[in-house]
Amino acid sequence: MSEDDRIGLSEPYLAGNARAYLEECLTTNFVSSVGPFVDRFERAFADYVGSRFAIACASGTAALHVAMRLAGVEAGDEVLVPTLTFVASVNPIIYQGATPVLVDAEATTWNADPALIVDELELRARTGRRQPKAVEVVHLLGHPADIVPVAAACDRHGVTLIEDAAEALGARYVGGALDGRHVGTIGKIGCFSFNGNKIITCGAGGMITTDDEALARRAKHLTTQARMPGIEYRHDEVGYNYRLSNLSAALGLSQLEVLGDILARRKQNAARYDRGLAGARGLAPPPRAAWGAPTFWLYTIDVDPAASGTDRTALMARLRERRIEARPIWSPIHTMQPYAGLRAIRGQVAETVFARALSLPSSASLTAAQQDRVLLLLRGE
Ligand SMILES: *Cc1c(COP(=O)(O)O)cnc(C)c1O
Repeated sequence: MSEDDRIGLSEPYLAGNARAYLEECLTTNFVSSVGPFVDRFERAFADYVGSRFAIACASGTAALHVAMRLAGVEAGDEVLVPTLTFVASVNPIIYQGATPVLVDAEATTWNADPALIVDELELRARTGRRQPKAVEVVHLLGHPADIVPVAAACDRHGVTLIEDAAEALGARYVGGALDGRHVGTIGKIGCFSFNGNKIITCGAGGMITTDDEALARRAKHLTTQARMPGIEYRHDEVGYNYRLSNLSAALGLSQLEVLGDILARRKQNAARYDRGLAGARGLAPPPRAAWGAPTFWLYTIDVDPAASGTDRTALMARLRERRIEARPIWSPIHTMQPYAGLRAIRGQVAETVFARALSLPSSASLTAAQQDRVLLLLRGE
């Protein structure tokens, strides 16, 4: 088969002003920490998601690490975080010397079960135990997490709410008090990723969003080595080299300008997969809640071994044999060696989702013909 036959999982969709903006960086010689694109990208991003401030970072992981610092997470603290997520949701808690408490998924959205989070906070309040320093909600695969009850419980108990929206740029809430609001703007701090496989890319990059001016200023400070004004290289705390380069921001801004197109394409792809899977026995489309407008960062199906007569691993192998990239969902954190000592609040739902879920090619650039190839193989035709 030719190279053209390969179908990737989630590839960059480079369009619009990408080339012109990168060219401008080269022409002006602003390729590093100086230049106009970081400010422009931050302003455009904040306007798009509807937060007061946006602070660009070197990666989504860096954004989450700074978020932990902003929330005051330190040694001896605990942070509630889903067990069914990418490892970068969890590691920044450990970078701070704090302890993640891993929360099981709910079957309805595959995000952390809000009831388990609320129960944990209420139980701690009743029994006089120390509350976690933060709750980190993850909007997995582009589907908004059921955040209303979690936000209310965090408010009641003075716990900082952080959103890991790395996979979910453009996802919104529908109906109710949050109608139209973007993920990443509900909690105190939101974090996004612009890695190459995410909804938009800077090559590598991330963003912190907040409505709190003091937090925004401190976030900028921490990402730039906590350097004080003046030329003497004085630093008032231990910071990081987590800033985004002008080059990366130029690409990011061009991507933000075509985000509407990217999201429309992903939605159309999802609808086409939905139709193609209707009637396929034991292959269910991704979970969807009525109160969320997901982005289908990954279109991930549930493979029921009994009903489908196959399983996730066999289907994945069938696709990969034909150079179609398909992948399992993230391994639950509590099942991996470096995290084995952590407390998990249940975990069975996450383990079941992991055993059955299969992510299909989901790039914005995916064509109808490519989707047909995937669907034929899935249906065993
Ligand atoms: C990708 C991702 C991150 C980390 O983003 P990077 O930019 O790759 O550092 C964090 N959390 C989740 C859920 C992710 O999918």
